[in-house]
Amino acid sequence: MHKVIIVTGGSRGIGAATAQLAAQRGYAVCVNYLNNAAAANAVTKLIRQNGGEAIAVAADVASEVDVSRMFDLVDNAFGTVTALVNNAGILERQMRVEDMDAGRLQRVLRTNVIGCFLCAREAVRRMSTRLGGAGGAIVNVSSGASRLGSPGEYVDYAASKGAIDTLTIGLAKEVASDGIRVNAVRPGFIYTDIHADGGEPHRVDRLKERVPMKRGGEAMEVAAAILWLLSEEASYSTGTFVDVTGGK
Ligand code: NAP
Repeated sequence: MHKVIIVTGGSRGIGAATAQLAAQRGYAVCVNYLNNAAAANAVTKLIRQNGGEAIAVAADVASEVDVSRMFDLVDNAFGTVTALVNNAGILERQMRVEDMDAGRLQRVLRTNVIGCFLCAREAVRRMSTRLGGAGGAIVNVSSGASRLGSPGEYVDYAASKGAIDTLTIGLAKEVASDGIRVNAVRPGFIYTDIHADGGEPHRVDRLKERVPMKRGGEAMEVAAAILWLLSEEASYSTGTFVDVTGGK
């Protein structure tokens, strides 16, 4: 089967590492991004230089129109998607719940939760053997925050990842007999740009001593877990979680 993957938020961080590793494993890769075309094009260029197939597609995962258009584009470019990585996610400035306004809460929940639902919906419509598809696999990128709650930093973000955990459990059961596996990874403190968005670029270095392994994680270490969950080696795993947190 021709392996076709969509990695949302594939332009930077964990998504970019996942896109690269997927290409090395033989997937044709759709590198989704929101604004940073230069970063997305750098990822696709590297994949093509190494003999792989990749396209960069701008789409806001929280927009139903954008998501439908992206999946249609992939249908035309590579054929039916066989793997989805729901990786795009955001957080905002560190603050306590008492200071959060509705606009912030809506932005975080729209991207992190509705975005995953919309992409999962389009993937299921194409993959489900009940609907004439050939099956597939979905990995949602949750966070260790769903267990820890991120007090004083971003409880809204942590709660959005709690929703992703529940989506993973529920959707996995819903489509288990339709040839689709749905799993999640929960990264811990990983060196990416996301911490600067929270107002603390060096957050991982501040917190790494609290990690049993005493270090932050690399995006490629998360990508490796994602690709394993997508692979046939994980053929009897669905509705489950791989924590990539250095033991935290
Ligand atoms: P990152 O470096 O900040 O990259 C975020 C990516 O998401 C970028 O490619 C960005 O695109 C894209 N994006 C943001 N909003 C989007 C939208 N509405 N539609 C489409 N794409 C969008 O983030 P990261 O640290 O790699 O995080 C990736 C995932 O891992 C997130 O779900 C995050 O919650 C989760 N995670 C990260 C950590 C960590 O420590 N880094 C820990 C636990 C979980 P542009 O380049 O166009 O902006």
